[in-house]
Formats: sequence, structure tokens, C-alpha cells
Amino acid sequence: MSDRSGVLFLAERKGRGLANITAELATAAAALAAQLGDEVFALLAGTGLESDAQELAGLGVKKVYVADDALYSRYQAEPYAGLLTQLVEEVKPRVILLGHTELGRDLAPRLAAKLDVAWAPNCVALEADAASGALKITRPVFGGKANGLFTLTGAEPYIATIGQKVFEPATAAGGSGDVVPFAPALDPAGFRAALVEHVEDSAEGMRLEDAPVIVAGGRGIGGADGFKLLNELAEVLGGAVGASRAPVDSGWVPSNLQVGLTGAVVSPNVYLAIGISGAAQHMAGCSSSKTIIAINRDPEAPIFQRVPYGVVGDWREIVPELIEKCRGLRA
Ligand code: FAD
Repeated sequence: MSDRSGVLFLAERKGRGLANITAELATAAAALAAQLGDEVFALLAGTGLESDAQELAGLGVKKVYVADDALYSRYQAEPYAGLLTQLVEEVKPRVILLGHTELGRDLAPRLAAKLDVAWAPNCVALEADAASGALKITRPVFGGKANGLFTLTGAEPYIATIGQKVFEPATAAGGSGDVVPFAPALDPAGFRAALVEHVEDSAEGMRLEDAPVIVAGGRGIGGADGFKLLNELAEVLGGAVGASRAPVDSGWVPSNLQVGLTGAVVSPNVYLAIGISGAAQHMAGCSSSKTIIAINRDPEAPIFQRVPYGVVGDWREIVPELIEKCRGLRA
């Protein structure tokens, strides 16, 4: 019988508050903990954490461990790996959850190596096997064409990174957990790398993940000039421009516009997929959108099988008309 208990997750912050993935992790952790009959714990690191800690404590978290130190105010691999390793020694959780974010993708394998345990990346479902204590996970495989079911066995804790926008964000449950300071003994002199400078992304406009409407273009747009028209449409609709991987690979748009398996995962109210064929790797990033509308000149394009609304035609004719109509409606 394991002497471990609980599901621990790492909270992420964005700007002045908690990142969206944090509340999603709270949901995933609570569901798993309920199956295991365990509690949920969270780690929050950085500075100025009081209100975020209180918010987390209201999301069904039994104990929020707060590491208040400037060393953690921006993610750095060695301090974060050291911090989590020491907390894991103290809390002894059965499972550790991180977001499948830039941070989580970097930290989870390091942590798994340090603890000599298994890591399951990009999970979309988790289930505890009550009898054996093993962790069953589901994750996309073959570039998103199928889902694979795996069982993590062996030494605990099991580590899983959770896909973004997979779980509904937890909301304040009424109860309130404890906020507990945690100050590990880490020696920065022992770190082999240090963050020298942090340069903010200079991209203008709305972030893809926050946009209520996304106008996404694919290879069918034909070049950087075509995206100027998509920008115009996005502006009229109060949204942002996205892209499939093809325009990114061709250098027509920056890589932070890419939607899909290896890009952003988005769920706007409306996703316009223009000149995009509907490859599984692209749909993996947009299929949780509330409404998807495809514009493609090929009536046989696979995207028409995957979305509820479609227009067959050349975007060069359809988009200018759409811009004009939308402008007319707004006037
Ligand atoms: P195409 O498949 O070439 O489709 C272009 C479409 O435009 C066609 O359907 C065509 O009919 C239409 N078209 C052409 N001209 C016009 C016109 N004038 N008007 C209207 N329609 C027109 N892809 C992603 O998008 N995101 C990812 O994150 C991603 N990750 C990947 C990860 C892996 C491991 C792999 C192997 C692939 C990944 N891909 C990803 C690539 C993916 O498999 C596809 O190659 C890519 O999505 C195709 O982009 P597309 O639909 O723009 O281009």
C-alpha cells in the first residue's frame, strides 16, 4: 500500500492573476482526487501572491502551498524543478498535474527525471484505477489522428501534463482551503543557467486565446498579402487572425498565430477557417470552438465533413463581400 496521498497541481499565473489553465487543472485534480478518495493540493510560486492564493483556496484546493520568492517570479527550469521536488518530498502526492503549456512541457520531463517516475504528456482524460492505484490516461497520438489509452504503473508520483481547454475551469466552490507558506532551501549558486532578460512578445492586437472570433487562414490564402484582408475581416468582427501551419512554415505569418496540435488551442465563439483543408492536426486546436465555419473552394475538402457550416467558393470573392456586409451591419 502506497504511503502517498493527494493530487498536487502547479498553478500558473499570467499577468496579474491566475492563468486559465490553473482553474482547469483544479477541475482535473478534483475529479481524480474524488476517484482516489484523496485531497487536492496546489503550489503557487512567485511574488505578490496573496489574492491568487485566496482564489485558489476557493477552488476546492485543500492546501495551497505558497512559495513567495522573486526567484520564481518568472519561470526558470532549475529553481522550479528544485522547488517542486522539495514540495513533493514533503507532501508525498500520488499524482502531480501540470498544464501542457510552455512551462509544463519544459518542467514535467525534468521533474520526472529528478524523481525517476513516469510522465504522461498532453492528457485529455485521466482515470484512477481504484484497485491497483495505477493512473490511466488518454492522449492524442499519431499527430492527433487518434487517441491512445495508456496506464502509468511503477513508482509514484505519476506526472501528467493536461491539455489546455480540455477541462472546464473550476469555479469558487464556497469552501476555502488553507494557504501554507513553503520556503525550500535552494542554493541559486548551484544553478547552471540564469534568466538574463525577458522580452515581451511584440505582437500587436488581441491574443488568439482571448479572441471571441478568430479568422484563420491556411495555405489557400496564397501569401502574406492575403492575410491583410483577413486582418481587415478580423478587425470588423472584433476578433483576431489565426493560421494553419502552412502559412507559418511559408513565413507569411508569425508562428504565434498557429492554431493546432503544435500551436495554440482555442475555443472562440466563432472560428472562420478560410483556405484550410481541415487536417486533424489543425482541428485539434480549434474543434472546441462554439461555431466553426469553413470557406473552401473545394467541395470535397475534408473540413466540410468536420464542421457544421461551410461555404464553397473562392475566399477572394467571399471575404471582401463579408467585410462590406459586416461594415454595413455595424454602421
Ligand atoms: P492545405 O492542406 O494545403 O489546404 C489548403 C486548402 O485551401 C485546400 O483545402 C484548398 O482547397 C483550399 N484553397 C486553395 N485556394 C483557395 C481559395 N482561393 N479559396 C478557398 N479555398 C482555397 N497543422 C496546423 O494547422 N496546426 C498544427 O498545429 C499542426 N501540427 C502538426 C503536427 C504534426 C506532427 C504534423 C505531422 C503536422 C502538423 N500540421 C499542423 C500540419 C497539418 O498536417 C497540415 O499539413 C496543415 O494543417 C495543412 O494546412 P492547410 O489546411 O492550410 O493547407
